[in-house]
Amino acid sequence: MDGSILLYPSPGRGHLASMVELGKHILDHHPSSSVTVILLSTPPPDTHLISAVSATHPSMTVHHLPAIALPNSDHLSSSPANFILSTFEIVRLHNPTLHQTLVSLSKSSAVKALVMDFFCNAAFGVSASLNIPTYYYFTSGASGLASFLYVPTLHVKYPDSFTDLDGPILMPGYPPVSPRDMPMAISNRSLKVYSYFLETAVQMAKSAGLIVNTFDSFEASALKALRDGLCVPDGATPPIYCVGPLVATGGGTKGGDERHECLGWLDSQPSRSVLFLSFGSLGVFSTRQMKEMAVGLERSQVRFLWVVRVPPPHDEARRMLAEPEPRLDSFLPEGFVERTRGRGMIVESWAPQVEVLGHGSVGGFVTHCGWNSVLEAVCHGVPMLAWPLYAEQRLNRAYLVEELKLALSVTESAEEDGLVSADELEERVDELMRSEKGRAIRDRVLAMRDAATAALSEGGSSLSALAELIGLIKAGSSELDVPDLV
Ligand code: UDP
Repeated sequence: MDGSILLYPSPGRGHLASMVELGKHILDHHPSSSVTVILLSTPPPDTHLISAVSATHPSMTVHHLPAIALPNSDHLSSSPANFILSTFEIVRLHNPTLHQTLVSLSKSSAVKALVMDFFCNAAFGVSASLNIPTYYYFTSGASGLASFLYVPTLHVKYPDSFTDLDGPILMPGYPPVSPRDMPMAISNRSLKVYSYFLETAVQMAKSAGLIVNTFDSFEASALKALRDGLCVPDGATPPIYCVGPLVATGGGTKGGDERHECLGWLDSQPSRSVLFLSFGSLGVFSTRQMKEMAVGLERSQVRFLWVVRVPPPHDEARRMLAEPEPRLDSFLPEGFVERTRGRGMIVESWAPQVEVLGHGSVGGFVTHCGWNSVLEAVCHGVPMLAWPLYAEQRLNRAYLVEELKLALSVTESAEEDGLVSADELEERVDELMRSEKGRAIRDRVLAMRDAATAALSEGGSSLSALAELIGLIKAGSSELDVPDLV
């Protein structure tokens, strides 16, 4: 092709996998394009995912940035706020090597665009200084984007941190949300990470365009608010390209080519009878919560496939980064595994989620509302029970449950630090799998699945948006602002 498109993902698995899907999608539909994925040296990239891509899409080039010196390893702390902070800062530390890389790549092929994850915001100055058109790929939905771009407005509108507010927060394109639904990273203004999000939202509104993993008819109200300019302070939203739903295929396992045993187990279950419970790449629960879940599942008598991880050592403080090896007996009720054998299956740590959701025996999905999980459920027509844990997942729940009516929700106990009781889970599971309300949700999700297929078919909104984007990128300038190149 006449020039290359550079993708700059952040390292979190969901973000990286989604960006890689975008690269594959561009090459599948515009095969004359040249796509290069630029990877940070720290933390080390997911090699399984990268080698799987190289096998299926050898034309996608992967460029590893050279290693950088980390000034302070405390920044790699595993607490969620520090994890997010360190991601922003590590990207900034890579700026000099990114600059060299962009200049050197441009010598072999004109650099037509840099498409980056929002965590890579610090790189905006680098691409802007080289006169490279810069796009953001937003791996969450249009509703998430609407709330993100609205942060600078909220900053002025509400003088206090969201943690200090009582009343609902009003945002364009959204149902009213509780301050507790706002992502932790932007809820407390005294945290440094808040200023990074604020800065990123301001910068995104100045980009060449925002590419979103959604489709037009899925999040219509949020998209209208975005396109009407209601989410940015000056009303000038960059062009929005809804190119999704992009859902990873074939990468659902963490290694090995063999069919996962849970898929064989699903083969032997009745159609749409199994409830699948999975909470993203990072979700974990306290021991107490795990026991409540087990009791609720057992009482509900529903068939289930449950991805479990060992609770973190300081249960209540963290809901991320589980230890690798669960010891089931230590955190599930005594005898639970034996009593539910046959109608329930436990998978430790990781299941091939996309394949599971696409299996005809699965009839419901208890999800943490990570955006990839939501899209995977929609693409396979599986109704959801929303149980958000971190990041923007509570906002996703509000949109899915109240605006789209594609999910039911668990109610967390305000008195008991967000605990979902066994009774509550039992009732909601029953409602999702057996009630008229559950059936209505299934019908809506199935209609949305068909809309997703239409968006991704020839002439559909998502392929048209991609064609428009690639056309603009190819037609753009190839000149880098680098004096020593002339
Ligand atoms: N996933 C999986 N197996 C698991 C847990 C997660 O394959 O046991 C995949 C899931 O299919 C999705 C991704 O990991 O593609 C999680 O992304 P999401 O945006 O839902 O959540 P995050 O991990 O970013 O919180």
